[in-house]
Amino acid sequence: MRRIGLIGGMSFESTAVYYRLINEMVRDRLGGLASADLLLHSVNFADVVEMQKAGRWDLAARHLARSAASLEAAGAECVLICTNTMHLVASEVQASIDIPLIHIIDETAKALKSNGLKRPLLLATRYTMEHGFYTDRMAALGVDVLVPDAEDRTAIHSIIFNELCAGTVFDASRDCAIAMIEKAKATGADSIILGCTEICLLLDPKKLPLPCADSTAIHAQAAVDFALGKGEANQVAA
Ligand code: GLU
Repeated sequence: MRRIGLIGGMSFESTAVYYRLINEMVRDRLGGLASADLLLHSVNFADVVEMQKAGRWDLAARHLARSAASLEAAGAECVLICTNTMHLVASEVQASIDIPLIHIIDETAKALKSNGLKRPLLLATRYTMEHGFYTDRMAALGVDVLVPDAEDRTAIHSIIFNELCAGTVFDASRDCAIAMIEKAKATGADSIILGCTEICLLLDPKKLPLPCADSTAIHAQAAVDFALGKGEANQVAA
């Protein structure tokens, strides 16, 4: 089994989901008491949030590049950045290491396309929905991503940072996200991307009005496929 390196803590609420999913997937594949061989460097999210707010993506890139290099030096054979937003600096992180970075956007695109889905609604932080790094990369991979309108982008961004990353889940926020999905369905979306690694704490992919690509589960599955060799195709809940 190859050793997985996780850059986590962004937020720790979703990193805990990665840890559980990766270990459960390894146990399911290998049986018995098998668990993943992994290293986790969990950063202080408050520092990262300050860099995001200040637009200091250069500092954030250096911060995460150092983290990736330390995982490589400690024996990791691949690295995952356990957040969609911080893939804004993925190329700088990949440039700082000689092991592969398993890219959350590429893995999500693959999962959508293998299920015949091409016009997903993206639910994510404002950085992910608005900076272009996500939608442009998806477009280059043949996926035409829709984003919510400005008011809904503000709402989902606030739900992510003020609620989910802080460890709280409100029914009213779930209703609000589902209303966004219904609106997008009516205007031609064929699927949803849970494009923030905490949104799976709010929405159950199996109970949504459109097929759903959960970036956390897809990314975790890609890590396990790397560690153990490819298993079943990546999942999109219908
Ligand atoms: N985990 C989130 C994501 O997937 C948001 C936290 C962050 O800003 O990194 O985008």
